[in-house]
Amino acid sequence: MTFASIIGHDRQKDLLRRALSSDRLSHAYLFEGPSGIGKRLMALALARAVFCQQGTGCGDCAACRKVDHHNHPDLHFVEADGSSIKIEQIRTMQKELSYRPLEAPKKICVIDDAEKLNLAAGNALLKTLEEPTANTLIIMLSAQPDALLITIRSRCQRLPFARIERKRLMEVLCEQLAIDETEAHILTSLANGSFKKALGKDRELYIEGRRDLLKTLTGLTPGSVLPLFNFAEKLAQNKELLPEILEIFQAFYRDLLLYHYGRSENELVNIDLMNKIHRVASEESTSSLLGKLSALDQTRRQLARNVNRQLAVEVLLMRLVA
Ligand SMILES: [Zn+2]
Repeated sequence: MTFASIIGHDRQKDLLRRALSSDRLSHAYLFEGPSGIGKRLMALALARAVFCQQGTGCGDCAACRKVDHHNHPDLHFVEADGSSIKIEQIRTMQKELSYRPLEAPKKICVIDDAEKLNLAAGNALLKTLEEPTANTLIIMLSAQPDALLITIRSRCQRLPFARIERKRLMEVLCEQLAIDETEAHILTSLANGSFKKALGKDRELYIEGRRDLLKTLTGLTPGSVLPLFNFAEKLAQNKELLPEILEIFQAFYRDLLLYHYGRSENELVNIDLMNKIHRVASEESTSSLLGKLSALDQTRRQLARNVNRQLAVEVLLMRLVA
C-alpha cells in the first residue's frame, strides 16, 4: 500500500508526505473518521514510507514487503482484546518501544479502534505520549475520537478523515471492478462513503441479498402471521448483519417517500426495483411511510441497547406490514 494507491484523502497524504520529507513527523498521530474509509491503509502507507530502503515506499524493497506482510520487526499493532484495549497490551507495547529499532529508523505502533482503550490503558499510554522519544511513532485510529481521554487527544496530532465522495467511490467501483452503473449506484448509496462496505462482505448483501430481503418484506401482509414470525426469526439470527439489513429496509422506505414527492430516480437507492417501488408506494401515504421510518429508527436504537433481538424484530415487522 503506497500513498499513491490510496483513493481520496489527498490533503492527508500531502500533509504526511511533507512532514516525512522535511523530517517533521509528529511523535503521535490520531487518524479520526468513520470506519472503513482508509485510515488503516494510510497508517500502513506511512509506515512503508518511513521504513522503505529507497525512501519512497517503493513496494519492492525488503522493508516495504515486510510492512505489507505485517511481519516487520519494528511495526507493531494493538487491537482490542474482546471489547477493550487493556493495560497489559499497552505495557507490552511500551516494552517493545523501549528497545532500539531493529531494522528501521524508528519503531511504529498502530493502535486500532483507539476509543476502546480502557481507562487504565489510556492512562498508561499517556505516559508514553508525554515523554516521546525520537525513534518512536504512534498512530492511533478511531471512529469515535470523542470517547478518548482528552489528555490523549491533546498530545497527538489529529488528522481528520472524511467519507469518500460518492462520485469518486462510484468511479472506482465501475473502473476497477467492472460493476455496472446500476449496481455501483446501489452500492455507493448504501455504503455511505465506506470502501470496506462497498467492497467487503456487505457487497453481496447489498446487491443480491437486498432483493431477496425486500421481496420477502413486501410479500408480507398483516394477516400472514406465520411467515412474519419466520422472517423475524431469520433476521434476528443474523446478529452481525442485522444493522445493515435494517439500513436496507430504511433505504427502501426512504425511496418510497422520495418517490411520493416525485423526486428523480437518481436520488433513490433501489433503482433496480422501480416496479416494486411504484407498486408499494401506491399503497402507502406520507404519514404511514414516516411512521415506518420512525419504527426502523426506534428498532435500531433498541438493538444497540441489547434488547431481545427476536422480539424487537417481530414488533418492527408488524409495524412495517400494517
Ligand atoms: Zn521500499
